Amino acid sequence: MIKKECLFCRKEYLIKIWKRNTSKYCSWNCKINSQKGRISWSKGLTKETEPRIKKISESLKKYYKENLNPKCGFKKGHKVHPGKKLSEEHKRNISIGINSSQKFKDSVKSKERSLKLSKALKGRKFSDEWLKKVN
Ligand SMILES: [Zn+2]
Repeated sequence: MIKKECLFCRKEYLIKIWKRNTSKYCSWNCKINSQKGRISWSKGLTKETEPRIKKISESLKKYYKENLNPKCGFKKGHKVHPGKKLSEEHKRNISIGINSSQKFKDSVKSKERSLKLSKALKGRKFSDEWLKKVN
């Protein structure tokens, strides 16, 4: 038995002396992967790509933590909406009521707006509770 380096994974493996000139890979896996045109991983590639992917996902997490949550993270029963103008309008709609047709239209408009909002923020539960109050 002699040592040989696999041409695909660069691992040292043992091979019988009479096979030393024909054998190139440590396993069938390496042989097949090599013949595929090196689509699959190799040691050098994963070491380079994994930290990169990790870094991207970490920076994304950091971004959402710093930028998205403070604005969009509603607490249950909390009467906070982005934009003072919007919340003032909502208060007006609630206090005046929806007896006249114009007020009803306004209410429908704000309902649509809040539905869009809830989809964007994924704050469905909160929005549903809030819609009950508006109606
Ligand atoms: Zn190998």
